[in-house]
Amino acid sequence: MYDVAIVGARCAGSALALRLAREGAKVLLIDRASFPSDTMSGHFIQPAGVSCLRRMGLPEELQALGSPPLERMTVDFGPVVLSGSPAPMPDGTATGYAPRRFRFDPMLADAAVAAGAVLRECTSFVEPLMEAGRVTGIRTTTPAGAVDDVPARVVVGADGKRSRVARAVGAESYKAHEATTCTYYTYWEGMGRDRNPPLCARRALRCGRPLWRWVDLLGGRVAEERLRQSEAGH
Ligand SMILES: Cc1cc2nc3c(=O)[nH]c(=O)nc-3n(C[C@H](O)[C@H](O)[C@H](O)COP(=O)(O)OP(=O)(O)OC[C@H]3O[C@@H](n4cnc5c(N)ncnc54)[C@H](O)[C@@H]3O)c2cc1C
Repeated sequence: MYDVAIVGARCAGSALALRLAREGAKVLLIDRASFPSDTMSGHFIQPAGVSCLRRMGLPEELQALGSPPLERMTVDFGPVVLSGSPAPMPDGTATGYAPRRFRFDPMLADAAVAAGAVLRECTSFVEPLMEAGRVTGIRTTTPAGAVDDVPARVVVGADGKRSRVARAVGAESYKAHEATTCTYYTYWEGMGRDRNPPLCARRALRCGRPLWRWVDLLGGRVAEERLRQSEAGH
């Protein structure tokens, strides 16, 4: 019997597993994915998130992921450009980072496992186990396709925005909006991190109808120039 079974082992699931395991809970963390793997997301961790990772004791692990600290942000609407540095958090943290998810998520999951959580990858949540109207565990399928029922005192759905756990227990949506725009991403090589001296790292948001474009990670003049050139083609 686990104290807590957590479905989903990325930012939310692994961070919670880490915290609970450190406090002595017996924690099971499952994910239908295996790690390292990517997921549909941007990568920017705001200073508040970096501050949180510090409190979790993971600042060195974050820096070891290899993405440069980002101290300035620019939002470029064309005629109006807003540029500046985020206000520091109470602990003084004023930098963000933008690591790729296939690096960041396994770092968190590894930390949870190091704290004592059990991680089962390629394991899918199927439905909650119920007894007298109460959730008492999770039905899962193993990597070999077998059904495995796991009892747990508490079950947490950290399985993303189309959460099967939430649907299964009838959790209501609130503050839901239709998508009114879209974002696209691209990854560039040779933009400066390997240069000596390196170009400054920055994050920029360029807005134009109908698309917004984030420039993460390496930035600098070269990235902007190439982005401008690419605008014609898109
Ligand atoms: C296009 C886009 C850009 C974004 N950019 C940013 C950004 O720059 N910065 C930022 O902070 N946030 C950003 N976000 C939001 C961010 O991606 C989410 O807030 C974050 O990923 C949520 O983390 P999570 O751990 O709750 O869920 P997820 O990261 O979605 O992880 C859920 C996990 O649950 C697993 N899972 C799902 N169903 C099951 C099942 N049945 N059984 C077992 N496992 C299951 C999945 O495999 C997955 O690994 C962006 C989101 C999108 C879509």
